[in-house]
Parts: sequence; C-alpha cells; structure tokens
Amino acid sequence: MPELPEVETICRQLDKAIKGKKIADIEVLSEKQFSGDKKDVINCAVKSVKRIGKMINIALDNNYAILIHLKMTGQLTTLSHKYTRIIFTFDDNSKLFFNDLRKFGWIRVIPSDQTGVEGSLGIDALSIKLTTDYLQQVFQRKKNTAIKSVLMDQSLISGIGNIYSDEILFCAKILPFRKAGEINNNEIKKLKSCIPNVLETAIEYGGTSFSDYRQADGKRGGYLDVAKVYGRKKAKCRLCGNKIQFQKVGQRTAHYCSNCQK
Ligand SMILES: [Zn+2]
Repeated sequence: MPELPEVETICRQLDKAIKGKKIADIEVLSEKQFSGDKKDVINCAVKSVKRIGKMINIALDNNYAILIHLKMTGQLTTLSHKYTRIIFTFDDNSKLFFNDLRKFGWIRVIPSDQTGVEGSLGIDALSIKLTTDYLQQVFQRKKNTAIKSVLMDQSLISGIGNIYSDEILFCAKILPFRKAGEINNNEIKKLKSCIPNVLETAIEYGGTSFSDYRQADGKRGGYLDVAKVYGRKKAKCRLCGNKIQFQKVGQRTAHYCSNCQK
C-alpha cells in the first residue's frame, strides 16, 4: 500500500501537471469505486492537489473537491493500463487514469469543506505538530505495544506504514519489537528527527515501488535502491555488514539489524 512518500510524490507531480486545467469529462468504468455526482466537478478548474494522510485531495475552483484513496494497488498516472477504472479528461485533451488491479481504491466527489475522515486520522507524520511531547504521550498510552505497530497506527500518526516504520526505526537505532513504553527520551528525540528525514529522503527518490505503486508519470519509485533494511532480508547491513534479520511484529514483518539497533 502506498505510504506518505508515495502519495506525496504523486500529489507534488499532479499539482504541477494538472493545476489550472478544467475537467472536461470523467469516465467511470468501475461504478463501485466512484461516489458523488460528477456533474458537480465537470467544467471546474483544478486549484491544487494536496495530500491528506494517505489520500489525494484535488481541490476545484467551485467549493468541491475530488478525494482519492489508492488503497492496495491503485495508481493515478498519465498512462492507461488494462486495469484502468476511471478516466479524467481535461480541457486540453490530456488524461489522467485511475488504475486499480484489486479495486479497493476509491474516488469521491465531495464539498471541499468535508473530507469525511479527518477525525479518524492522527497527526500527519510531516506536520510540525508531531513533537517529542506528542510522541512521549502516545508511547505512554500504548506502552505495551511494539514500537513498530505504534508508528504504523494511523489514528496516532498518519502516513507511516510497513516500509517506513522499518526504515525510521533503523535510523533511530531502535529494535522494532520493543515496547513503546520502554523507549527512553533520547531515543524519542532521535525518532522525532528520523521521521521527517526518512520520509523526505523517500520523497526525493519518488517513493518505493515494491509492487504496484507508480509515480504520476508512470515511473517506478527509486527508494528501494537505498533502503537500509526494508526488502533486504538476509542482505548485509549497509552500516555494519551483519545480516538483516526479520521477524513478525503484530500482523507485519519487521526488517532490522540486530547489531545497529538496540
Ligand atoms: Zn547493522
């Protein structure tokens, strides 16, 4: 599933590519993935494309917005695909394709003041509101939960999933299965700086293409080439040369270096 860097990459690219264009048509090939009335946005111009958590918010010039969640296998690109489900055509005849193999993703036309899900999302992982104080409070509240699972809980911090929780914990030198309540203040400070560092680096590389994720121009993300632990089972740690270990944490597999992380 795309995480914050992948969705942010798509939003930054689309903001450049479609800002100012008017929507001429929306062709819906998979009805269950589209809700709202497309008449509310036809002939409206795109004001901006911004990320809300892991969702893409296309703001229009008439107080409506198009909210998109890519879920497991969704793509929003300028390239069509055998699994294209929804097609946007703009006034210059350029097109944007919503492709989705597994059909869990969705597109909603909504009034721009209601994103509908804001209340259930925690503080954005790139927000300045994500302070060491906030992390301390959250870790005390979830003190018996593995730190990796806490970082991935979207109701606490939004945007971090399986890939970047591994990478952030490697950066902070913390083992993924340690209980959140046992993370000390120095480690929390380190974690606080690793979260934006890792995510911004991933955005620079266009995110991680492990399977279906593609950038808005259809290219794969390049972060996997520089990932420290994720996807590197049994490879050598880039810092110390030890083998990267893996272990189940909650429902997911954590990757880590037992020498570099404590
Ligand atoms: Zn190591």
